[in-house]
This record gives sequence, C-alpha cells and structure tokens, in this order.
Amino acid sequence: LFSGRVDFLLSAPALKFLPEPTVPEVAFAGRSNVGKSSLLNALTGRKSLARASVTPGRTQELNFFEVGDPLSFRLVDMPGYGFAKAPPAVVEKWRRLVRDFLRGRVVLRRTLLLVDARHGIKPVDDDMMKMLDEAAVGYRVVLTKADKIKASELAEVTARTEAEARKHIAAHPQVLVTSAELKMGIDDLRAAVLEDALI
Ligand code: GDP
Repeated sequence: LFSGRVDFLLSAPALKFLPEPTVPEVAFAGRSNVGKSSLLNALTGRKSLARASVTPGRTQELNFFEVGDPLSFRLVDMPGYGFAKAPPAVVEKWRRLVRDFLRGRVVLRRTLLLVDARHGIKPVDDDMMKMLDEAAVGYRVVLTKADKIKASELAEVTARTEAEARKHIAAHPQVLVTSAELKMGIDDLRAAVLEDALI
C-alpha cells in the first residue's frame, strides 16, 4: 500500500476544515522535534512528504495524507507539543484542537505516540497519554532516534517505557523502537499502521 500512492490532502487549523470522515485514519503525535516528520517520510518512502516543524505556526494544524490508490486510509500528522516558549493561549488552542479531534473523530483507529529514545516519556508526553486515555483512542508508543543511544540504554528505556505504557488504559503494551536515520524498525511500524488502519 505504502508503495502505491501517498499524497498530501490538506492542513486543518480547526475542526471545521477536517476532511469528510470516509476512510480509517491513523494519527501521529509527539513533542516538536521528536522526529515525526522524519519518521513519516521514512514510513512512506517519500523524501519530503511531511515538513519538519521549523515554523511554530505550522505546528497548530492537523495535516492529512492519503494512502493507497484507490484510497484506503489516511495518516494524520498531529501538531507537535511541548514548545518551551509557547504562550498559554497557543497551548490552550493546541489542547482544544487535539482534544476535540481525538474525542470526535469517528474514523480515528489508532494514534502512534512518538517519544525520543534519549529522553523517554516526559510529563508532557504523559499529559498526551492521559488525553488519549480520556478520549478512548488506542495508541502505541514509538521510540524515535534509537541510533542516538547505546544498545544497553535503548534496552533500559524500552523497558521503562513499556512499564509506563502499562499504567495507561488505552496504551498498547508493546513499544516500537525506530530510527528514521538508520531506517530501523520501519517495517514493523508500517505493519502496525496497516494493521491499525485496516482491521
Ligand atoms: P519533528 O519536529 O517531530 O517533525 O522532527 P523532525 O523530523 O524535523 O526531526 C527533528 C530533528 O531530529 C532533525 O534535525 C532530524 O534530522 C533529527 N532526527 C529525526 N529522526 C532522527 C533519527 O532517527 N536519528 C537521528 N540521529 N536524528 C533524527
């Protein structure tokens, strides 16, 4: 499927701009700079499908990509969170958009929550996990940038992250480990996305 078509559809700065809920969707969430654009590009095999979130303004939008020809599901790039210097009004706008999307989107099958392998789950990630729990949207935690740490540290952070995930009602107990840089874990991630989107 991913070797077929993957096309950018639209950016939605508010819920009224969402595309019609006609096909299943799988969303990607994470702190800004977690490596979300890089992972989406690695996943879809496109070099610059998702742009890196260099402009804070662009991070306030939900970006939709269509996969398959004929269309069979969508990927949703959710706005990154955790900007240290974001004004409270911006954070509140982000929160409302994301919460309302998670609660109201009937075609949303699963969310992949990206967490930097160097840092593990931070309080802002835990807040996101609580929002997903409350919205009853199932999610998997995906560690990113696994190439940046030693194998022993990776094993430790994976175990710690799985222990954290088990405390959350809507979290999948198994954590995926990836590196967009080394194309590591991409096949497993692709399989997980397809399973979530199509089952
Ligand atoms: P986003 O803000 O979450 O979309 O993050 P980006 O994909 O733009 O990545 C943020 C930074 O991390 C960039 O400098 C990327 O080159 C770097 N990065 C992303 N993925 C990896 C990875 O797997 N390994 C390494 N070493 N760096 C990565």
